[in-house]
Amino acid sequence: MKKELLYVSLGLCVSLAALNAIADESSASGSIKQTAPAQADAVADVPAQVATDEDLQNLPNVGNKFCPVSGEEIKADSAMGEGVHMAYQGKIYNLCCPMCVKDFKKDPQKYIAIINEELAKDAPAADAQETTK
Ligand SMILES: [Zn+2]
Repeated sequence: MKKELLYVSLGLCVSLAALNAIADESSASGSIKQTAPAQADAVADVPAQVATDEDLQNLPNVGNKFCPVSGEEIKADSAMGEGVHMAYQGKIYNLCCPMCVKDFKKDPQKYIAIINEELAKDAPAADAQETTK
């Protein structure tokens, strides 16, 4: 009779321990947000990403006004919203809409070259065309 009691209490202990372990595990995995997907470590360079709020605060925006993918002007009040910001190699690049993100990610260097071209000729003469209307 006494033996039986011992087993029961032992069993209780074990299941309590198991419960604790489960609770620990779930709270631990809950607090760790899935950081990088597994595929990221295969890439040496950090891939282009849609900029987070943190990126927008910490990284300089190159200030391009035209989408390098579509060539569209990036308008703050367009129906598409105010465009999409991409974080890439420590800078923010601007795209006109979420549709262009996929293309930018595919070949960021190509589109950054287009952006740099735009920025290079952007400086003066911006109103010269307007006044000829
Ligand atoms: Zn677009």
